[in-house]
Amino acid sequence: MIDPYGRYISYLRVSVTDRCDFRCQYCMSENMTFLPKKDVLSLEELELVTAAFIRKGVRKIRITGGEPLVRKDIMTLFRNLGLYLKSGELSELTLTTNGSQLEKYAGDLHSAGVRRINVSLDTLDPDRFREITRWGDFARVMRGIDAAQAAGLHVKINTVALKGFNEGELGDIVRWAGERGMDVSFIETMPLGAIDALRSDQYLPLSKVKADLAKDWTLTPSAYRTGGPSDYFDVAETGGRVGFITPLTHNFCESCNRVRLTCTGMLYMCLGQEDNADLRAALRRDPSLAALDAAIVEAIGRKPKGHDFVIDRQHDDRPAVSRHMNVTGG
Ligand code: SAM
Ligand code: SF4
Repeated sequence: MIDPYGRYISYLRVSVTDRCDFRCQYCMSENMTFLPKKDVLSLEELELVTAAFIRKGVRKIRITGGEPLVRKDIMTLFRNLGLYLKSGELSELTLTTNGSQLEKYAGDLHSAGVRRINVSLDTLDPDRFREITRWGDFARVMRGIDAAQAAGLHVKINTVALKGFNEGELGDIVRWAGERGMDVSFIETMPLGAIDALRSDQYLPLSKVKADLAKDWTLTPSAYRTGGPSDYFDVAETGGRVGFITPLTHNFCESCNRVRLTCTGMLYMCLGQEDNADLRAALRRDPSLAALDAAIVEAIGRKPKGHDFVIDRQHDDRPAVSRHMNVTGG
């Protein structure tokens, strides 16, 4: 599938639930209302929609959420999608997780064919971890990362850079990840959904983070590409890599190859725009799947050129889109 701007759409992110066992301060407010269960696609329906994208040339699937590993029986979806890896129709099946359930599922994920996962971690300090996630247990996440590596999964750490929170710790995260053979990507906070804090108080431009890191680490541009938005640098001292995901300071939309499916079957062609396509209605209307296929093609035909995120004091009470990140999926 090729969109109106000539971009080849090969990557689907699937948010399998909007629910989560954490309440990260930049992602959610403390009291969240989640989607009614009746609106959520069954695992069979999620698989049908995902398979339709694979038929249309999608080669990479990332399962995300909310916290994907809290969805009941989620390993059934991983096992079934893993069959497309075996047949060669899919080149990668991967996952973004907060790590809380990895101790339980790492082995099953590897058996299903998952080889690389992203684990989100914003601090190495257990008390601060509790503060930023509100509900998370640091030791449990560390056990999850241990289990993932022991099972043979390549772990990449995702860290949202937050002013006044982890600003002074990012070099320690680079060192810790390097020592464990993990890459790390830093992410700029995006204005998605209303939260309890001011975005402008949290926003830390990665141009500043990179300049600060370059004082202590030798960073050279890397040829490494994952098909995602991270711009990678090799870190000479650790032998690892550090990536920068910069939706605010450097807009990477021109090379965007992805679309996002929510757990209710809405397809978002851009994380930062409201336009969507109701694939659930198409799926339930026509068991032959022809309406679903047509709805997907029609939606790709109106993928927008990009987002225009702004974080400053004037825009703080107006997020770019009203959906929180846990709905669209990271
Ligand atoms: N619960 C899983 C996790 O935390 O990895 C998967 C879903 S989470 C929404 C995916 C990623 O989005 C995480 O790395 C998280 O840190 C990031 N994220 C959440 N809200 C964000 C925001 N407003 N701006 C930038 N990144 C955000
Ligand atoms: Fe949950 Fe992930 Fe959002 Fe944190 S970032 S609240 S772990 S969905």
